[in-house]
Amino acid sequence: MFMMSLFAAVFLIVYIHDRTQKFAGWMAVAYCLGLVAYCLDISRTVDSTAMTMAMNTAFWCLSGAVIAAVCARCDRPFPKLYFAGLLCLGYVSNIYFTFMSHDLAMRSSMSNVVGGLMIALTIPMLYSRKRQKIDRAIFIVMTSIAVIMCVRPYLSFAIFGPESGTQYLQSGYALILHLTSAFIALAGAMVMLLASGLDMMDRLHRLSRTDYLTGLRNRRGMEATFDRLELENNLDGCAVIAVDIDKFKALNDQYGHPVGDVILKRVADCLNQLIGEIGTVGRVGGEEFLIVLSSVHAQAAIHFSEQVRSAIALIQHPEIDPGESVTASFGVAIVEQGETSRSALHRADTALYAAKDGGRNRVETAVSAVEQKRAG
Ligand code: GH3
Ligand code: MG
Ligand code: MG
Repeated sequence: MFMMSLFAAVFLIVYIHDRTQKFAGWMAVAYCLGLVAYCLDISRTVDSTAMTMAMNTAFWCLSGAVIAAVCARCDRPFPKLYFAGLLCLGYVSNIYFTFMSHDLAMRSSMSNVVGGLMIALTIPMLYSRKRQKIDRAIFIVMTSIAVIMCVRPYLSFAIFGPESGTQYLQSGYALILHLTSAFIALAGAMVMLLASGLDMMDRLHRLSRTDYLTGLRNRRGMEATFDRLELENNLDGCAVIAVDIDKFKALNDQYGHPVGDVILKRVADCLNQLIGEIGTVGRVGGEEFLIVLSSVHAQAAIHFSEQVRSAIALIQHPEIDPGESVTASFGVAIVEQGETSRSALHRADTALYAAKDGGRNRVETAVSAVEQKRAG
């Protein structure tokens, strides 16, 4: 009971702290229902039909909350139809074995099997998501829980045999039920709390690499891209393109910062759309962007930059005078063999300055690394 309350509280705190963790919210509901089911179970007698039915209802709703938690994690819709079907099967079998065949052992078995089958509904969702280690762990735990729920009544019958006349709480069935429930509650909480912690860390990690205004990578995100390319020995031959919006300060001064933000966002969306899968783009400064295209010829990189430049100049901005347009300048450098990302970035920046000096709204190509070194 203490364990159930503790886990319910912990999941609730996680959910209140971070509302995006909907699955933690559903796990809190599951543990609350687990607490209700446990209280009803210890206060019932085998032949009290109403209490047994209430306990089973709480138990199946608990399974429903676990399904909802997994659905929230896997971004899947709740399997309403299957769940409703299993719920009907649970009630019909309970009524049949209580009032018609008076087989209380079969009633217990069916209640557990229905709960197990409900949990089994999460298995296909988790199977298709087995990308990260933690998803694999949740898959294993949910599969084990489903199997344990289905087999535990038979396990108790196999070990203790028919137990008619025994007080419910002293019965072998109650012992097996409570032991396995404690294991299930513990394993479920451990794996889901671990998943929740890892999700939170993942989110913070992503946030720290994402620009809040445009949703593109920020400078740290771009540094991580370069680190990855360097680590995989894929940096040679990449095109590094520095992009800077022209006279942006004047635009801000004339129309205000909020308009500047809207324009920045439009330019960022345009870059993101044009680059798509062929490269990576990030906002590395106020009105400065960086594009990395993997392994391209210099001519192709220049041609691509020209196309992006024209596309930016053609964006419609209803907030500014119709006669005005927002343009950007480009500096293109192709990473040479053995060159570091820092050196290529420096060359792209120098080319960008040349584009500014040359009148803006143009693309300039960087000089080679050897020449750049010679020039100091
Ligand atoms: P140049 O053509 O030489 O690049 O001129 P510029 O005015 O674009 O360059 P400068 O570096 O002088 O000014 C950049 C401006 O970008 C200054 C700042 O007000 C603006 N800026 C930087 N970050 C943001 C932002 O997040 N939102 C808005 N609206 N403006 C920003
Ligand atoms: Mg600028
Ligand atoms: Mg600038």
